[in-house]
Amino acid sequence: MDYLPKPYHTKIWRAIYEHELIEAGDRIAVGLSGGKDSMFACYALSAIRRYSKIPFSLSAITIDLGFEQSLDRDALEQFCSALEISFHYIPTRIADIIRAREQQESPCAVCSYFRRAALHRFASAHGYNKVVFAHHQDDAMETFLMNILFSGRVGTLPWKTHLTKTGIVVIRPLMYLSERDIAKAVRRLGLRTEPNVCPYSCETHRARTKELIRDLCREHKQVRANLISAMRSDRLMELWPASGRLNRSSSS
Ligand code: SF4
Repeated sequence: MDYLPKPYHTKIWRAIYEHELIEAGDRIAVGLSGGKDSMFACYALSAIRRYSKIPFSLSAITIDLGFEQSLDRDALEQFCSALEISFHYIPTRIADIIRAREQQESPCAVCSYFRRAALHRFASAHGYNKVVFAHHQDDAMETFLMNILFSGRVGTLPWKTHLTKTGIVVIRPLMYLSERDIAKAVRRLGLRTEPNVCPYSCETHRARTKELIRDLCREHKQVRANLISAMRSDRLMELWPASGRLNRSSSS
């Protein structure tokens, strides 16, 4: 299980070098949900580790959210063992928290907050210094557009984030790959993914933004490339000042 097609290898290494994601001696844990993206992240990083001149260790951590239907723990364990990476399975009661707050807060926001907290806490307590999130290019583009449309700010997913509370560095080495690239690799490599056990549907804002980008890309070929280019901080920014003259004088 160490064959990684060349274009994938090149794009992941490009991300690692350009954004200094991995350093010698890193103890890296991949957040493994069982979905195609995180299964591919484990596979790809394990293949890369075998031939890497930068020595680093690799593990996988699965946070079980505690839904009625549970993940196939044995299958995930076997997958990791075939890759020769250690596997941690953390059962939680996050599903109960989601249910209790369902009327006031979005299930996905609650889920994401508690799942990340559990993952970072476990990683930090067990000596890992980096955690991998398997976000890809489409996730970054959707986040970029969602931030503008639904939060009124310009920003996308960072390649690397230092978390001051736990000391963990979150890295996203798959962001030069599109979602389609990953789906293709998962089929080609025959990786078995886990069925979705969550009874909630995905965040509506993200699903709507994904659909919007897909429709626009169908109509205009350059939309995808333009969005990717717009996410670079060296792009010419022609933005308004922080506030208008009237607002500035009334607030002083
Ligand atoms: S769809 Fe389910 S698993 Fe995914 S973020 Fe939302 S609540 Fe969590």
